[in-house]
Amino acid sequence: MVDTQHPESPETEMSPGPTIRVMANAHDVDEREGIAPASTVAPIAMEFADDEVVFALDSLSCYYGDFRAVRDITLSVPTNRITAIIGPSGCGKSTLLRSFNRMNDLVDGARIEGRILYHGVDLYADGVDAVEVRRRIGMVFQKPNPFPKSIYDNVAFGPRVAGFRGDMDTLVEESLRRAALWDEVKDKLRAPGTALSGGQQQRLCIARAIAVEPDVILMDEPCSALDPIATLRIEELMHELKENYTIVIVTHNMQQAARASDVTAFLTMGEDRAGYLVEMAPTHKLFTTPGSRMTEDYITGRFG
Ligand code: ADP
Repeated sequence: MVDTQHPESPETEMSPGPTIRVMANAHDVDEREGIAPASTVAPIAMEFADDEVVFALDSLSCYYGDFRAVRDITLSVPTNRITAIIGPSGCGKSTLLRSFNRMNDLVDGARIEGRILYHGVDLYADGVDAVEVRRRIGMVFQKPNPFPKSIYDNVAFGPRVAGFRGDMDTLVEESLRRAALWDEVKDKLRAPGTALSGGQQQRLCIARAIAVEPDVILMDEPCSALDPIATLRIEELMHELKENYTIVIVTHNMQQAARASDVTAFLTMGEDRAGYLVEMAPTHKLFTTPGSRMTEDYITGRFG
């Protein structure tokens, strides 16, 4: 079991938003004169007050067998904010995201080095139950993947598995409301989830994630299979959800990161193809006055 002091219930009053402080770093000046070799550039980090930190990564590397996909990442993810992870394809964004809820445990040969603290608890410590971790830290995937069940049963599935004994109808309704889907489906709860539109299916998957009362929702390119209107709807929903949840989103869409997130982490990869952190900053800052030349080149389309 993960032992945290974090509130279990989304109803519980949350702390105010994080105080954002950008840490200037000694390499900034040199770095802006040109792209330094990846291995010698220290990342530009952000610090948050201890009680605002949900995840604290300490020198995290992720491996698939001998291949290191993510190298030496140290960063913190703040509570009740939307943190976007951006970077070129293959730089390890999804791998990093999946390490946040031990999803990569399911991949043969996957392992990490370094540490991920979740509310101060080492997620990979002996005795931590990966199933419980994934309940608290839910995930929404690129392609909406409702189960071949009714809308109702999609939402009720997780709570049933977890042995929920309360009023299921209320929980299903509440989850669908939070996912901004209730009004569209309340009269057809027994219809198959797969019969909904792509955007509705993705909101159903969000409702399914919410139903087990998580603390964090990880989103891996949640809009890449959706049209612009459905995308906007999900982005609005994310904005509403951050009141109660911490959201981390991987996106290849820089406009989406700029529109929808509060904090952005930019990763790139070195010659060894291992992804590493270049810069983490408040989103408006990263996209207007980035601290690193590499970030600037990426967001202006000069590479990646
Ligand atoms: P991104 O999300 O930035 O596109 P990924 O995290 O998907 O990057 O992939 C990072 C690297 O890890 C890539 O080189 C990819 O081929 C490799 N990789 C991803 N998943 C696996 C896996 N299950 N087994 C082996 N290698 C993988």
